[in-house]
Amino acid sequence: MLYEISEKAIRLRREGKKIIRFNMGDPDQQTPNEIIEAALKAMRKGKTKYASSAGEKELRERLAEIHDTSAENIIITPGSKWAIFSIMYLMLGDGGNVIILSPHWSAYELMAKSIGAEARFLRTSLDSDWKIDIDKLRELIDDKTRLIIFNNPNNPTSKVMDEKTVRGLVEIANDENVTILSDEVYAEISFVKVKSILDFEGNHIFVNSFSKTFAMTGWRIGYAVVNEELAQKMMKLNQITMTNVPVFIQHAALKALELRDEIAESMREAYWRRAKIACDILSKSKLEFTKPDAPFYLFPRYKNLDSETFAFQLLDRGVAVVPGTAFGGYREHFRISLTVSEEDIELGLKKICEAIS
Ligand code: PMP
Repeated sequence: MLYEISEKAIRLRREGKKIIRFNMGDPDQQTPNEIIEAALKAMRKGKTKYASSAGEKELRERLAEIHDTSAENIIITPGSKWAIFSIMYLMLGDGGNVIILSPHWSAYELMAKSIGAEARFLRTSLDSDWKIDIDKLRELIDDKTRLIIFNNPNNPTSKVMDEKTVRGLVEIANDENVTILSDEVYAEISFVKVKSILDFEGNHIFVNSFSKTFAMTGWRIGYAVVNEELAQKMMKLNQITMTNVPVFIQHAALKALELRDEIAESMREAYWRRAKIACDILSKSKLEFTKPDAPFYLFPRYKNLDSETFAFQLLDRGVAVVPGTAFGGYREHFRISLTVSEEDIELGLKKICEAIS
């Protein structure tokens, strides 16, 4: 559904129609020039060859410093998507199941399906402010459960889990000998502080990306912090599949890390302003929603809405959103990405409000 909407939006644009793209989790900002220059410089210096399947030592060392771990625990991947897929592939291949906290980024579910692993869902709801029922998690775990996956801050709700909740999840996972994979790709630009999985005891996995913080979605670079055994397995999987993330891109990533604080802050500020504009408009409408703790998303609900039909109708009014069914069956919800200009946010949300009134 996500892809059908996106295809139709692209077709309408090609036909010359203005479409406000609230459907993309792709920042509209350009990759900062210094990062582009660093890639060009590295290319000119000949960093255009095959290289280590674990990632460049210099980049892994810098990331190890940031995350207070060792370079042996870090694997560089073509986007965090590949890190997540390879971890699922390596950990669920023996008939294991995975528990996914929902609503969720649809790729988790599709990845599990693609490798024939059972996905179980721990649903949360707007009615309880997206709070996680820890007891329900215990009921979902059995002796085949290998992984619990969550995204903190969450796509599509933009909720950040409080520390007590993360601790509760970690305690259960540790008791039951299950690994948590915490996807924290929106954490660095979050409006509120995120308690990382790396701050807790246990054999857990942290995944991050350069895509969102640095507006580098198309560069395809992310990484995972894992134990050494899994790092070795991921490295071998990289060897037989994608070989390595291009070295010049890893040099660009090093430059991004150098400028991390200022870039993250300017991203955060831009999205904070956008979120404020959006919340002001939506709070005057009949839509129910929780205020975002982080960029880029809002996940409003309209009682009895069929969001799939609604999304297609909205496209004809020039606005693309993603129906809530794409995030684990949340039919009355739809996702708005604030990855467009402030003017387009005002215009697009006005059209959404008109469509539901
Ligand atoms: N995790 C989440 C929650 C996402 O929303 C996305 C991208 N939409 C990714 C991971 C993947 O990001 P990338 O592969 O570009 O690092």
